[in-house]
Amino acid sequence: MAENRIVTVNGRSYRWPDRPVVAVCVDGSQPEYIERAIAAGVMPWAEKIVAGQGADLRVDGVVPSFTNPNNLSIVTGQPPAVHGICGNFYYDRDNDREVMMNEPELLRAPTLFSAFQRAGASVAIVTAKDKLRRLLGHGLEFGGAENAAEAICFSSEKADQTSLAEHGIEGVLEMVGMPLPSVYSAELSEFVFAAGVKLMQTRRPDIMYLSTTDYIQHKFAPGSAGANAFYAMMDKYWAQLDALGAVVALTADHGMHAKHDAAGEPQVIYLQDLLDAQLADHHGAAAARVILPITDPYVVHHGALGSFATVYLAPGVDIATVKAGLAAQPGIELVCDNAEGCARFELAADRMGDLIVVAERHVVLGTTAARHDLSGLDVPLRSHGGVSEQRVPLLLSRPLVGIEAGRRLRNFDIYDLALNHLAVRAEPDFAEHMQ
Ligand SMILES: [Zn+2]
Repeated sequence: MAENRIVTVNGRSYRWPDRPVVAVCVDGSQPEYIERAIAAGVMPWAEKIVAGQGADLRVDGVVPSFTNPNNLSIVTGQPPAVHGICGNFYYDRDNDREVMMNEPELLRAPTLFSAFQRAGASVAIVTAKDKLRRLLGHGLEFGGAENAAEAICFSSEKADQTSLAEHGIEGVLEMVGMPLPSVYSAELSEFVFAAGVKLMQTRRPDIMYLSTTDYIQHKFAPGSAGANAFYAMMDKYWAQLDALGAVVALTADHGMHAKHDAAGEPQVIYLQDLLDAQLADHHGAAAARVILPITDPYVVHHGALGSFATVYLAPGVDIATVKAGLAAQPGIELVCDNAEGCARFELAADRMGDLIVVAERHVVLGTTAARHDLSGLDVPLRSHGGVSEQRVPLLLSRPLVGIEAGRRLRNFDIYDLALNHLAVRAEPDFAEHMQ
């Protein structure tokens, strides 16, 4: 019987879904966004869930609290030390080049989706930004390969360019009935959910993953009208997925905080400028290289400023001295060397520099003042990346059972919780099934 089947991937086992399971990653969803929207009465579905119909948890994401490392942790069930994606960007020291971590070859672990598809489950993935698509879809077989279960993976950003061979689906705009959204818009995320509901109505995949963009959270604080409208929109789609009989599980990749002073000016420590001033006299101009793993092609709303950086030092520069100097800077929360930092944050040592630097809650790290274009910031800076944005919500549409006391729950436990630990909700179809 299908119900007894187990899928094991990356050392973790998952029960076969008895109904579709939809995991949602709400990008940049600091817990207060949902709390405030529920308090404002604009999320009636989530309100019932947190009132006891489901589960309402706070869990830890991965540091650096950025999009790619956390999305890949969610879909592999493991921290970046295992899957290798430690940021949007890393420095390849051997080849002296800065590399975008969009390429599936950089992924060191298979996803849950490829394992489930191989076991015969149908899979559908929709992500807002195309930068995640090939990582999330890595290992899936598209286009009706002989005996393969159906797999679909596309982004709303490029929803007009899908094919059966590369995405497992064509005609997405017609199916969803929305125009192609702008990459900087709330609609980019709404499209993800509208597509998810259509796919649930028409194809009913066993495993679904929906991942949004944090465009709204970078602009609007929790409880603001702009934020509440976005959360009200999402709540309607989640209610529809629930009504269609799916298990709905929600978490976030990271939180989001204001990173500006009372006057609205960004609070930035320009690390490259700082280190150049300290080191250039004795060690030359290339003594330190600061890498900001938040950097990606979509920097307009955060100016590539986040609260996490890694620093590569030239041979001969004393790591401990630089570390002590940075740790003494106001606004710096934490400086670790590579070994300490990778152990503490479960990161891949070969994709981090000699130092890992984390800024305080309301401070961000830059390279040089000249290199950051802040002209796109039309509202005071909000961003993420640090330990202060690690705490995220995790909501499930049914109560949990069988969780060990004292277990540290992570956002990347979401499929474990949704597949292995849900209580049966008293619903008519289940009541019949159980007799
Ligand atoms: Zn994100």
